[in-house]
Amino acid sequence: MPRVPVKVVKWDEIVAWSRKLADNIRASGWTPDVVVAVARGGYVPARLLCDFLGVQDLLSVQVVHWPSAAQVAEKAYVKYGLSADLSGKEVLVMDDIVDTGDSVLLAKEVVERCCKPKSVRTAALQVIISTTKYVPDFYAVEVKDWYWYQYPWTALEDISSFIVRMMREERQELWTLDKIVEKFVEWYGNELLEERFLYFREALERLKKEGVLRQVNCDGYACYQLGG
Ligand code: ADP
Repeated sequence: MPRVPVKVVKWDEIVAWSRKLADNIRASGWTPDVVVAVARGGYVPARLLCDFLGVQDLLSVQVVHWPSAAQVAEKAYVKYGLSADLSGKEVLVMDDIVDTGDSVLLAKEVVERCCKPKSVRTAALQVIISTTKYVPDFYAVEVKDWYWYQYPWTALEDISSFIVRMMREERQELWTLDKIVEKFVEWYGNELLEERFLYFREALERLKKEGVLRQVNCDGYACYQLGG
């Protein structure tokens, strides 16, 4: 069992789940006039939902809770709120996944306080039923066990922060590429590396460019170490 269980989510699953979510919403008899995406995870699903439901108005609020992959901040907070007159409007607040429930609830409160909507409901593609304290009004997929779902829109940043976290916690100074790959699989499982191999290389390049990683010479081999 890897230390951090990760499941890779593919684009066609995202489209299928968004379509299913739209069907669920339609079947309820309620129709949103406006969709509010919870940035940043809710952006892509919210846009797809607008397409499937024929909704023209898409707004956003930004809530921060998981500053880097699979590492939660103490408390969710609103980074950017909303200023819009939504009086008389039915509003749907949309996120990718509900894990603790904090972000989506906070976003709902923001909309209720800022914008005088007629009503606000919540939706997500996925809900982790074992961890959340709040179940959204609509969702496509209910999951029992906690995984870090690696969505297509966070591949590079997730893999970059996974590499850094692993290197920090392993407390090993010099890393060959082989060692990074071997440990990465131990920490996060096979699937992530296999499905997102091109991102793995790109993540290493990005970390070097940002000065988070340094490339050094180990007896003729390229090695990496945490810089700064
Ligand atoms: P929510 O209020 O939706 O439960 P959280 O506050 O737990 O959300 O998390 C905020 C955001 O962090 C999510 O919308 C999602 O983008 C990301 N996130 C949280 N948990 C996971 C997870 N298990 N897998 C992938 N992304 C996650």
